[in-house]
Amino acid sequence: MTDQYAVIGNPIQQSKSPLIHTAFAQATGQDLEYTKIEGQVFAADVDAFRARGGRGLNVTAPFKLDAFAYATERSQAVQLAGAANALKFEGERVMAENFDGVGLVRDVTHNLQRPLRGQRILILGAGGAARGALVPFLAHAPALVVIANRTAAKTAELVDIGRQQGAGADQVRACGYADMAGQQFDLVINATSASLRAELPPVPADVFANGALAYELAYGKGLTPFLRLAQNAGVKQLADGVGMLAEQAAEAFAWWRGVRPDTMAVIEKLTVPLV
Ligand code: NDP
Repeated sequence: MTDQYAVIGNPIQQSKSPLIHTAFAQATGQDLEYTKIEGQVFAADVDAFRARGGRGLNVTAPFKLDAFAYATERSQAVQLAGAANALKFEGERVMAENFDGVGLVRDVTHNLQRPLRGQRILILGAGGAARGALVPFLAHAPALVVIANRTAAKTAELVDIGRQQGAGADQVRACGYADMAGQQFDLVINATSASLRAELPPVPADVFANGALAYELAYGKGLTPFLRLAQNAGVKQLADGVGMLAEQAAEAFAWWRGVRPDTMAVIEKLTVPLV
């Protein structure tokens, strides 16, 4: 029987995951079928999928915390993020992973050719995506990671996670949007969800250092208010999250199937010009 995989979320109509994983399966000669599940009650929906022979799931909003709870085994990335974006089923075992952070870092370092060692990184937002990205960023030995968020308690939690991973007080710190004046960064990541509502986080336009990369986690939206701010500030390298999406999918595919697909064809197919 053809192996079954799916993405679960709600809403789910917009998901590109079936297109991505079907392309990966064709390119690597893997026999699998990949569908979408519009989740209602997460545990019941996943039970039903497993009963139909489901082998693995990608998990998107609003179910990443439910996936964490449903798992019987959680990777370090899942424990640090407090959320899972991929599940693998083997009998009674439910293994959880979170590939968002490694997907983002691979897109930046590999696809966009931006080494992170010694770089100054500003992360806007302290939600699930920022949480998942912090430790993979630290693994590349940046000089500094500053996290800014409207809700200060969440930034403090992320800074604590960084410290638990061995980062020094001068390597990871929190900063309010209002206190950012005069600071400049080589990589500015918009990990807020502001762009989903065409809003701009209150980041000053002078945070971009010479030669900076401005990276928007949202994808398929063209020039978001954040990317427009960066462009108007003279930033030449702009990117959205399409590469992150493809890279986290490739990580999940490799975890399930033992073969890592190339992502370039999928990235090219899904890229919406940043205009
Ligand atoms: P969460 O809901 O977990 O977190 C949202 C964050 O955005 C919070 O820190 C929130 O601040 C902040 N925020 C929301 N609106 C504003 C605003 N107007 N101004 C300033 N801050 C704001 O979302 P996720 O972390 O899951 O997702 C964040 C983004 O990343 C989304 O755009 C999502 O689409 C994208 N994403 C992309 C992926 C990819 O593969 N490319 C994968 C995962 C996510 P506060 O805490 O103060 O409310």
